[in-house]
Amino acid sequence: MGSGLEDIRIPDDGDQPNKRALVIAAHPDDSEFGVAGTVILWARDGWQVYYLICTDGSKGTDDPAMTPDKLVPLRREEQRAAAAVLGVKDVFFLDYVDGELAYTPEFARDVVRAIRTIRPHTVFSHDPNQIVRNSFINHPDHRCAGTVALDCVYPLARNRPTFPELLEEGLEPHSAKEVYLWSASDVNYKVDITDVIDIKLEALSKHVSQMAEMETRLEQIRSFWRSEDDRYMENFRRIPIPF
Ligand SMILES: [Zn+2]
Repeated sequence: MGSGLEDIRIPDDGDQPNKRALVIAAHPDDSEFGVAGTVILWARDGWQVYYLICTDGSKGTDDPAMTPDKLVPLRREEQRAAAAVLGVKDVFFLDYVDGELAYTPEFARDVVRAIRTIRPHTVFSHDPNQIVRNSFINHPDHRCAGTVALDCVYPLARNRPTFPELLEEGLEPHSAKEVYLWSASDVNYKVDITDVIDIKLEALSKHVSQMAEMETRLEQIRSFWRSEDDRYMENFRRIPIPF
């Protein structure tokens, strides 16, 4: 699999609160768009934030000279650099083919493996509920990653009989306590990221391969997050998992 997940073991929390969060995103750069400001604030507050990137990002180019062999490692590098700006603890890549993400038992098992390895209190992902959102089409990889993330939080990661091969890997069932969805259809939770909007943009600027005309693009992105009262907000649908 080559995600690096097999190399980490999270110690038991003991009597410490679980302050681990897992961001499950379809492509390198999705997390920076959706949740970077919140990640900065939570990391400052002592949270350990991990990224799970589901695809290899191999379709993110219009450059005829760019090949997947060159683009995939480049986008990994960009994603790691962006994550480092935010204070993300580690980044894992599943490397499914960009644009072809499908809901398969293999993909769900990979996501359950990540959840059972990291044992997050909180999971962040794409809101999969809409095909068309306002005036844009929600990328099918985003919908797929969000659907699988939700299904893995409940019920797949918590059900002992699911994927018995993971028990053999020593991965016990795990119940996350809350999910936050970005690009949400029904926003019920807002995070004021005004103090860290510049750092969010700095992280986005690390995705050089995705940013033709960088300065213009960053200004467009900045205004996208500006609220009516001149604050900057990241908006989520928050779903508590009470039991
Ligand atoms: Zn994307």
